[in-house]
Amino acid sequence: MSIDPFLDDLYREVVMDHFRSPRHRAVIEAPDVSAEGYNPLCGDEVALQLRLDGAQVDEIGVQVRGCSICQASGSMMAEEVVGKNLSQTRELIGSFVEMMSGKGSQAAPAELGEDIEALFGVRKFPARVKCALLPWTTLQEGIEQKESSPKTWEGR
Ligand code: ZN
Repeated sequence: MSIDPFLDDLYREVVMDHFRSPRHRAVIEAPDVSAEGYNPLCGDEVALQLRLDGAQVDEIGVQVRGCSICQASGSMMAEEVVGKNLSQTRELIGSFVEMMSGKGSQAAPAELGEDIEALFGVRKFPARVKCALLPWTTLQEGIEQKESSPKTWEGR
C-alpha cells in the first residue's frame, strides 16, 4: 500500500527517505527548550528539545510518532534549524507556515532547504497540511514559551 499516493514520485522518495531515517531523532537531556504537540486529525505526536548556545540552536531533538508526512517534516525541520539563531528559526517557521497555507509565492522560499519543497504536494490536502505543520508549530510554541519566560535567557 502506498502511504501517500498524492505525492509525486520524486517528492515521495525524499519524504520516504526522511521517514525511514529521521534526522536528529535523539532526545536531548536537560534541554533549554522543550515542547510537545498533537494533531488530533491524524493522531500525530511530536516531542522536541533544543539545546542553545546563547541564542543559537546548538542541537535539536525531534521525536515524531505519526504519519510519514509528519515524520518527514520534523526531520527536515531539524536539519534546517541546527546552527540558526532563534530569530532565524522563527523566520523559517513563518516561511514554512506561509508556504503550506498557500499564501504568497507558489515557489518554495529560498531560505528553506530543497528537501522541504517535497512537502509542497501536501498543500492540496488540507487535512494533511496539519501533519506537515505540526513539528513547526510545536517548535514555535517552545520558542515562544522560552522567550516569554522571565527567569532565563536574554535574546542576542
Ligand atoms: Zn499525520
